[in-house]
Amino acid sequence: MKYLHIVGARENNLRDVTLRIPKERLTVFTGVSGSGKSSVVFDTIAVESQRQLNETYTWFVRNRLPKHEKPHADALEELTPAIVVDQRPIGGHSRSTVGTMTDVYSVIRVLFSRHGTPSAGGATAYSFNDPSGMCPECDGLGRTVRPDYERILDPSKSLAGGAIAFPPFAAGTWQGQTYTNTTDLDTAKPVRDFTAAEREFLMRGRGGTVNVANTGGRRDIDFEGLADRFERLYLNRDLSTLSGRTRDLVGRYLTEGTCPACDGARLNAAALATRVEGLGIAECTRMEIGELIPVLRRIKGAVAGPIAEAAVTALERIEAIGLGYLSLDRETSTLSGGEGQRLKTVRHLGSSLTGMTYIFDEPSVGLHPRDVGRLADLLLRLRDKGNTVLVVEHDPDVIAVADHVVDMGPAGGADGGRVVFEGTPGALRRADTLTGRCLRRTGGVKERPRAATGHVTVEGARVHNLKDVTVRVPTGVLTAVTGVAGSGKSSLVSGALCAAHPEAVVVDQSSIGISGRSTPATYLGIMDTVRKVFARETGTEPGLFSFNSGGACERCEGRGVILSDLAFMDPVTTVCEACGGRRFKDEVLGRTVRGRNVADVLDMTAAQALDYFADLDDKGVRRRLRALRDVGLTYLTLGQPLSTLSGGERQRIKLATQLHRSAATYVLDEPTTGLHMADVDGLVALLDRLVDAGNTVVVVEHNLDVVRRADWIIDLGPEGGRHGGEVLFEGTPAQLLDAEGSFTAEHLRRAVA
Ligand code: ADP
Ligand code: ADP
Ligand code: ZN
Ligand code: ZN
Repeated sequence: MKYLHIVGARENNLRDVTLRIPKERLTVFTGVSGSGKSSVVFDTIAVESQRQLNETYTWFVRNRLPKHEKPHADALEELTPAIVVDQRPIGGHSRSTVGTMTDVYSVIRVLFSRHGTPSAGGATAYSFNDPSGMCPECDGLGRTVRPDYERILDPSKSLAGGAIAFPPFAAGTWQGQTYTNTTDLDTAKPVRDFTAAEREFLMRGRGGTVNVANTGGRRDIDFEGLADRFERLYLNRDLSTLSGRTRDLVGRYLTEGTCPACDGARLNAAALATRVEGLGIAECTRMEIGELIPVLRRIKGAVAGPIAEAAVTALERIEAIGLGYLSLDRETSTLSGGEGQRLKTVRHLGSSLTGMTYIFDEPSVGLHPRDVGRLADLLLRLRDKGNTVLVVEHDPDVIAVADHVVDMGPAGGADGGRVVFEGTPGALRRADTLTGRCLRRTGGVKERPRAATGHVTVEGARVHNLKDVTVRVPTGVLTAVTGVAGSGKSSLVSGALCAAHPEAVVVDQSSIGISGRSTPATYLGIMDTVRKVFARETGTEPGLFSFNSGGACERCEGRGVILSDLAFMDPVTTVCEACGGRRFKDEVLGRTVRGRNVADVLDMTAAQALDYFADLDDKGVRRRLRALRDVGLTYLTLGQPLSTLSGGERQRIKLATQLHRSAATYVLDEPTTGLHMADVDGLVALLDRLVDAGNTVVVVEHNLDVVRRADWIIDLGPEGGRHGGEVLFEGTPAQLLDAEGSFTAEHLRRAVA
């Protein structure tokens, strides 16, 4: 057996971690949040592997690559090139679809160009990213942005009486004179009384005359139609040349819709008309993958057959990973983090690389227990191709298939950073570690669920795949919405429920749209107090203690790191040499309060800060720090960049800012993401406290440990996509145990047995 060797690793909180990780095996890293799993896998192994790879380039190339810091460790040996498959949103522009990112679309294109009749010509003719294939109307975007003339023009009014509602062209403005002073239209007549010809002249007219008042008397100018002028000034030009304010203003008078020329299919008429076995390319990309597979299987023939087969093989991988409900034309920017990660996995499964190290960050996120088994199979297949697979994971079903488990702990932050167990999953279940104990425990369903205080009714919901869903969501209790991926949980909760109940507080995992300088301290508003305290105690100005202004290190502008962005690689950060990552100027660092300077305070975890501020006369700061503790983020330091937080951590820090509400409805999408089994208890306790304080909590959740402890369950299904979108069950967890035809019921029965 060969191994990756890690000796004396000390990144972040790691305490001289020494490990031998078997090559060509599946190793799962477990442990509570903040115990150091990512520090080993991402910050040590992946970083060093990338660094060693860069060293193999020539001096010339190397000087153009970002300089990776060598991870803190005594030795890192026998590493193989690492590929990180994480949950960072694929994002991407609107030209990136499920089909293009998995490369299946290029196979389908070949099928149509080689075998389609009538053929639209050259291969690229079926690419919406190529001028020879794209719809000329929408440039291959499938959508067009058009002026909303209903909003720009109020037909009940006359031109002189203010019919034009778009401010830059309104009566009384310089441009507005064209329409209030034209001699070719009756400017006192309501626009709705115009004849078709008059209306056409107003919108598209040219020439004519307009009497324009200017300082030197009257002057005649040419008339330009309202629509022509709007389109010339605001549509047919590079919008980035407009000021932000103008763009926002214009945006309010535009509507986006499906392109009328290609009906959203993005391709030109010749490409759309081509048929393979009576089937058009747009029909193929619009179908759910699960339905496209049998259609492509029917395509036979010496040329088309093998190509269709290649597409089927790729599509079957997508289906196997539980994403058969997606269509190839789905834009990747609309996928969840978990869906994106699974799609990236599919791409690697298709590759023939061996001898790599694949690193996954909680690949079970967003997966129903039914599909976790299939995910585990895919990880094992990657291993069987001769790769080393490292997975950070909390799900017992993934842990169970590992060849080797590394359990980090014993707790988070400074109390973690050690390997507390190494061995097989079977041995871990007998081990005296937190993870071992959690794997052994069992629990039944909630016996005395709370009674609802009322209901919010969602009526006839049709968001995405929902099939006219009417459901009563109880208030004053904890409700779990369950179902396989794609069944419609998010559509019901984030879409329909929030529309029916606008006061709902949505706490999701989306990025916190703020600058790279944001930290828990700034996000929670703790920093203001810190600055005031430091100014008062040291007799200076609060601004000095802000890394956004006065006191910031000049080299890195208070970021502590230098970011290098490269077109073909992920951006890389290196610690600022001037301040050593401390973000402040020396003169600021020299000022201390109770023996600590402001950078020391930012290095404190929430728990340490609670001690430091224990006798501070500011209850607000202590309340906010306690909120961090309540959501299980005590291990975060006050100064850790928010951009380094995982999706689950982002969601919990958002929750921390919302805890003070009462009589609110909280909506959370998979709040257990990134949580160890032991942390899940803390989360459920927090949700229970929120409910006991008079709030309503609705969670979308797969974790059966949460589901069994909810007061009420709404189960959607039976499958994803078109075969989902129905309510299968509404009731208490105990009632769910008896439900028929629900995958959730089936797995809950197994879990509590
Ligand atoms: P896990 O993956 O087990 O949740 P991590 O390895 O992410 O744990 O974190 C271990 C410790 O290191 C935690 O205390 C965490 O706050 C800290 N840490 C992680 N990333 C950073 C970072 N970029 N800067 C500062 N501290 C960090
Ligand atoms: P779940 O939350 O149960 O995983 P979703 O509500 O996300 O399910 O998805 C339900 C269906 O709606 C799926 O077929 C999915 O592909 C589709 N869908 C979800 N979001 C979008 C979107 N932004 N655009 C188009 N279809 C979507
Ligand atoms: Zn079009
Ligand atoms: Zn600096």
